[in-house]
Amino acid sequence: MLEKAGVPVLHELPGVGENLQDHLEVYFQYYCKQPVSLNSKLDLISKGLIGTRWILFKTGLGATNHFESCGFIRSRAGLKWPNIQYHFLPAAMRYDGKAAVKGHGFQVHVGPNKPESRGKLWIESSDPAAKPRILFNYITTEQDKQDWRDTIRLTREVLQQSALDEYRGEEIQPGMDIQSDEQIDQWVKKNVESAYHPSCTCKMGDDNDPMAVLNEQCQVRGLQNLRVVDSSVFPTITNGNLNAPTIMVAEKAADMILGKAPLPKLDAPVWIHPEYATKQR
Ligand SMILES: Cc1cc2nc3c(=O)[nH]c(=O)nc-3n(C[C@H](O)[C@H](O)[C@H](O)COP(=O)(O)OP(=O)(O)OC[C@H]3O[C@@H](n4cnc5c(N)ncnc54)[C@H](O)[C@@H]3O)c2cc1C
Repeated sequence: MLEKAGVPVLHELPGVGENLQDHLEVYFQYYCKQPVSLNSKLDLISKGLIGTRWILFKTGLGATNHFESCGFIRSRAGLKWPNIQYHFLPAAMRYDGKAAVKGHGFQVHVGPNKPESRGKLWIESSDPAAKPRILFNYITTEQDKQDWRDTIRLTREVLQQSALDEYRGEEIQPGMDIQSDEQIDQWVKKNVESAYHPSCTCKMGDDNDPMAVLNEQCQVRGLQNLRVVDSSVFPTITNGNLNAPTIMVAEKAADMILGKAPLPKLDAPVWIHPEYATKQR
């Protein structure tokens, strides 16, 4: 690829740019029967008051990004850890604030966190200002498709629990007419969007892995004094949002670069369903 782009290869590392992963999500929306959602706060006066309060006192609705509750579930037996992530938003609208529903609503942002599909990025020009090519290959394996079907069905089940009865109105989207595998596949294809977590294109790995770009010290294999320290180092995408793990990598790498001894290993207890191998819940 480099040679095709007019860049001489000085050190071959075939894993660079491969193994691209990302988190995808959809908005699963319901109308809200109670007048308590943020949908009523989108007019200029409300936004002005919220902004003023935040500027003056750093309090109120402007002091939060509103994704204050989240959750993780396992979609199938055999998984030790949850693979589906939820963020709850007390409003029904697009991520960028557009296309808010009329009336009150709420939604969860939801998607599987451990996709199997792998994409890649590469260059086609030696001009450093030229944009790279990026191919995500989203939802290209059968397991990824199944994970999305499970996500939609389980999310509907979660949101239809009786605890939400006094708030939950009609399902806005996907909509109760989206039921079969084919309908879900089509709906997801049309509505899914990136959660903006592209990562894993310079993965860390052991000596036997020809696609590993970095060793366990974040050093580029076969070169001296070159490290990569960012969200590209993960071999597989993290099982939650990316920012905190990336900061963790950076803190750890800073210690390595400074030659500091690693902190003692922490054995935090993690709950694992005792029958995870055979039960989904
Ligand atoms: C819209 C959006 C929402 C997100 N929301 C969340 C969230 O809610 N929670 C969460 O955990 N994660 C979230 N993320 C993901 C998270 O922000 C990223 O995963 C994380 O910042 C990745 O860190 P990084 O160091 O790999 O890359 P970046 O943070 O992108 O850092 C790359 C740095 O390199 C610099 N740079 C680029 N080119 C050059 C160059 N040629 N020379 C010098 N410097 C250069 C850039 O200016 C930048 O500072 C979100 C991302 C986006 C885009």
